[in-house]
Amino acid sequence: MNQTNQTETEQTNNDPLAIHYRAIAIDMHADTVQRVLDEHIDLQQELKDGHLDAVRAKAGGLDAQFFSIWVEPQLFGLGGERAIKRADDQIAAVRALAEKHPETWQLAVSAADVRRAAADGKIATLMGLEGGYAIDERLENVDRYYKMGVRYMSPAWSVSTSWAGSSGDEVGASRGLNEFGKNVVREMNRLGMMVDVSHVSDKTFWDIVTTSTKPVVATHSACRAIADVPRNLTDDMIRALAKTGGVVNVIFYPEHIEPGWSQKKKQLDAEIAPLVQQASANEPGDAVHKKLARDRVRTEQYARRLPAVTVSRIVDHIDHIVKLVGIDHVGIGSDFDGVQATTSDLATIAELPNLTKELLKRGYSESDVDKVLGGNMLRVMEEQGGGK
Ligand SMILES: [Zn+2]
Repeated sequence: MNQTNQTETEQTNNDPLAIHYRAIAIDMHADTVQRVLDEHIDLQQELKDGHLDAVRAKAGGLDAQFFSIWVEPQLFGLGGERAIKRADDQIAAVRALAEKHPETWQLAVSAADVRRAAADGKIATLMGLEGGYAIDERLENVDRYYKMGVRYMSPAWSVSTSWAGSSGDEVGASRGLNEFGKNVVREMNRLGMMVDVSHVSDKTFWDIVTTSTKPVVATHSACRAIADVPRNLTDDMIRALAKTGGVVNVIFYPEHIEPGWSQKKKQLDAEIAPLVQQASANEPGDAVHKKLARDRVRTEQYARRLPAVTVSRIVDHIDHIVKLVGIDHVGIGSDFDGVQATTSDLATIAELPNLTKELLKRGYSESDVDKVLGGNMLRVMEEQGGGK
């Protein structure tokens, strides 16, 4: 090889895009499958709205997507048949996606599956249950969802259950895991289903890390030291989670990453409440479609009237976690299609390479980038053990 060629090779090797596309990128949390169910979107097309589809995922170098199987308790209940059906419908939609479009999506339940899909140029398709409502307070349902392919569960979303407190309501402030809740964690450990602390109350967090014998994850959270919202993790929590061997996957949502954004959003929410209500009243569809109509107004208003946030702020949270506990305990969880605002330069999954560019700009090495984008989560998935 002559001198010119060598230089060219080196340039290619150090190219941020080459580094990005070489790495296995795993997004731990997106709500896109609800759009498939409720809006009948075709994920194979490049969509004009929302944050994720097959075309933009490919452009963004995404190798694995955990789809959130989210049961909204106000619409579907804290348990019972409707909650179970809502979860089952989403799981069926994810499976159908892989069955109809095997050229793009490959169902996956393990780190080995993810590596295989990435090597085949497919997107590994995984599932996590957001909020434990669908287990309907029955331990056997944890096993049922594991068998259906679910590989993580957060005990509570924004509403507490009898067995797990949430960071999103008042009762959660004094509620952790009860004995049943601890048994749920033990059952998840036994099966090899990751325990997700995103959305849970502080008390529940501490009960989880002291109960779990396997690495614990936050699938879409950030640092309270930077953005002081109850959904985020304190430095002590990040240290405790890292001690379990777990990973904090940093969320991309401005409300949870930008200081003061949450307060500004609250003020704006109060101002636009009549507009939001009007959109809901004008929507002829069911409760799900009324919620979509309300969210469309919010999306438009937030984009116009709230401060822009950039990918650099996401990396501030990654930096903070790395300074606290090292490079082995941080990953990414976009929350795409579950939020009404995004950063301006990582507005959809297609712009994921901008995250890698920012990491490299700040001095992270290629192997650091590999860990942040997905390597750390591959390790945690391998360490869950359990069944197949
Ligand atoms: Zn969430």
